[in-house]
Amino acid sequence: QFLPAVPSANPPTWLGVMGGGQLGRMFAQAAQQMGYQVVVLEPAADCPAGQVAQRLISADYTDGPALDELVAQCAAVTTEFENVPADSLARLAQQIFVAPNAAGVSVAQDRIAEKTFFVGCAEKSGVLPAPHKVIATQADIDAIGDDLLPGILKTVRMGYDGKGQVRVASREDVRAAFDSMGGVTCLLEKMLPLAYEISVLTARGVDGQSVVYPIAENVHRDGILFTTTVPGPNVTSACAKQAQAAATAIVAELGYVGVLCIEFFVLTDGTLVVNEMAPRPHNSGHYTMDACITSQFAQQVRAMARLPLGDCRQHSPAVMLNILGDVWFDGDTYREPAWDRVVALPGANLHLYGKDDPRPGRKMGHVTFVGHTLIDAQRQFEQAC
Ligand code: ADP
Ligand code: MG
Repeated sequence: QFLPAVPSANPPTWLGVMGGGQLGRMFAQAAQQMGYQVVVLEPAADCPAGQVAQRLISADYTDGPALDELVAQCAAVTTEFENVPADSLARLAQQIFVAPNAAGVSVAQDRIAEKTFFVGCAEKSGVLPAPHKVIATQADIDAIGDDLLPGILKTVRMGYDGKGQVRVASREDVRAAFDSMGGVTCLLEKMLPLAYEISVLTARGVDGQSVVYPIAENVHRDGILFTTTVPGPNVTSACAKQAQAAATAIVAELGYVGVLCIEFFVLTDGTLVVNEMAPRPHNSGHYTMDACITSQFAQQVRAMARLPLGDCRQHSPAVMLNILGDVWFDGDTYREPAWDRVVALPGANLHLYGKDDPRPGRKMGHVTFVGHTLIDAQRQFEQAC
C-alpha cells in the first residue's frame, strides 16, 4: 500500500488560502464542512472569503510578517487568486505544504509561458494552442505574418474575463491596440473558427494520481462566462475522450498538485485546441457543487490536505448560470432581483457571494439548475432568464 511521504493534514487543523474572492469563500465553506478551520490572506478588509473564514489576515500577498503568520498557523496553503505572486508561494513552500506550487501557478500566470508549455507537451497531450506570436516591440508588429490576422491581441499577464484583449483585423489595428495597452508585452493569437468551447476540470494528488470531471460546455458573453452545461449538448464522445486525455497528460507534465481547469476550443472542423488553464477551482466547475459527488472545492481541500481524492462522478445533469451585477439594474434603475422566482424552480440552487455593491459585469453569484434530464435543467434555466 502506498504511504505518502507527508502525512495528511487532518481536521480541525488550519488550512490557508491566498485570496479572498468567491473562490476562496466556496473553498472555505467546503473546508469547514469537513471540519477544517480556514485562514484567508487578502489585501481587502471586506471580502467574500473573509466573511466566512475563521480568520482573515488583511495584508498584501507579499507581506513578510503576514506570510509568516500563515506558516505558523496552517498545515497547508492553497490559492484562489490566479495572480498571487509566485514568489510568495515559493516562500511559503520552504516551510509548509503549498498546493498548487509556485511553478504550476507561474506557468498559468503568463500567457507566453503557458503557450510554450502547451507546445512543449503537445506530443504527450495530443493538442496544440492557437497559432500565436509575442508582440513586445514595434518591430514585432512589422514582422507579423498575414496568417495570424485577423487575431486577438492579449496582454501576457493579468488578463481575465476577456479583459486585456482586443480583436484586430490588420497590422494597423495591432499597432493601435498595442499602444492602447500601454506597450506591455502581448501575445497575438490567430482568430480561430470556434464551434463551441469546453473546459476540463482535473485534480491531482501528491501521489501522482489524477481524476477528471465530465467535460463542461461553456458559453461566454462579452468575454465573461455566461453558462456552463454538463453534459455539453455539442460534446461528442470522441471529443470528450481526447480532452480528458489531454488534461490528464497536462496535469501530469506540470507535476501539479491540486485542482486545475483547462479551457479548450473545439473548431468547426472538429479540431481540439488548448486555450488556457487556471491553477485553481474554476467558474465553469461551480456546477460540481450541486451535480457531482465531490465538488471542485472539496477536491481542492482533499488535494492540499493530502487526503485521497474524491469521486468526480456527476449525479445530475446541470446548467450553471452566472449572476452578474447587471441583474440589479433595469436601465439605470436599481432593483432587487426576484430570487423568489428563481428558487421556486424545482432544481435551482442559488449561490450568492456576499458582495454588497452590484456593478455591471461583476460576478455576484451563480445558480445551478439540476434536473433528472438535461432538457429538464435547460427548461428551468430558460424560465429563470
Ligand atoms: P480570459 O483570460 O479573458 O478568459 P481567453 O483567452 O480565455 O481569456 O479568451 C476569452 C474568450 O475569447 C474565449 O473564451 C473565447 O471565446 C474568445 N477567444 C480567445 N482566444 C480566441 C481565439 N484565438 N480565437 C477565437 N476566439 C478566441
Ligand atoms: Mg478564458
